[in-house]
Amino acid sequence: MAFESLADRLQETIKKIRGKGKVSEADVKQMTREVRLALLEADVNFKVVKDLINRIKERAIGQEVLKSLTPGQQVIKVVQEELTELMGGEQSKINLSPKPPTVVMLVGLQGAGKTTTTGKLANFVRKQHNKCPLLVAGDVYRPAAIKQLETLGQQLTMPVFSMGDKESPVTIAKEAVAKAKEDHNDIVFIDTAGRLHVDENLMEELEQIKSVTKPDEIFLVVDAMTGQDAVNVAESFNEHLGLTGVILTKLDGDTRGGAALSVKAVTGTPIKFVGLGEKLDALEAFHPERMASRILG
Ligand code: GDP
Repeated sequence: MAFESLADRLQETIKKIRGKGKVSEADVKQMTREVRLALLEADVNFKVVKDLINRIKERAIGQEVLKSLTPGQQVIKVVQEELTELMGGEQSKINLSPKPPTVVMLVGLQGAGKTTTTGKLANFVRKQHNKCPLLVAGDVYRPAAIKQLETLGQQLTMPVFSMGDKESPVTIAKEAVAKAKEDHNDIVFIDTAGRLHVDENLMEELEQIKSVTKPDEIFLVVDAMTGQDAVNVAESFNEHLGLTGVILTKLDGDTRGGAALSVKAVTGTPIKFVGLGEKLDALEAFHPERMASRILG
């Protein structure tokens, strides 16, 4: 599971400081040094770590902590609040259009988990928001992707809109939204094509899909296992498309968690959901506060 070694290290540091009735400036410095190392080892972006540590130091060495009655607890609270803030603060909700259908575009590199996540997210929204989704097979370059989405649609008993692999994804997306209106599907999930690397042709095509469907949400699906690469990918997709959220997949794997902790700070885009397995119900809304608590134990 993600964050195990980060959590282990931080919890050790925290144990040392928790019971302290008196915390000196040197104690705080020692602790922030250990937090810094733990975060860098967890593959959190260097600059993100630096800023975070500065904020923790400022607050912990300031009056807020040293003069408190429970300084040890207080330091931990500061670390917890700063980690929560780093990951986006409040939990962000899916933005549903007041004028249905809501259009959600899923973008990302090949293998990140886009197609699977399209199914998972549709399942989540149907359960949580009582919505009636239409899945759209827009990944025409990976022949298996259309079939994969159709299979997911069957498993979920959910309609899948496909025009095969001969039409352009822009046409498919446009027709799909029209079809959703006709059939009273109130939310449309567009699975788009991915490539192995960020590439200009792909971005252009995604921009066109964006301009014809005017999506309410553009979610980037990234593989948490790729660490800092995930953050770089998020930055380039965000520059081209203006993402509204990130979905981190494979958080059930052996990831160090750096991506989860850096994406918001580097790109300004919040993580909205996390994937925790291959099954269709293995998707959760992302709660920064809960995640911070989990890391700090
Ligand atoms: P796409 O190329 O981006 O559409 O990727 P796919 O949806 O085909 O997913 C690639 C692989 O990742 C598949 O084997 C999925 O089952 C797997 N996968 C997707 N999300 C998760 C996740 O959250 N956890 C795990 N363990 N595997 C996942």
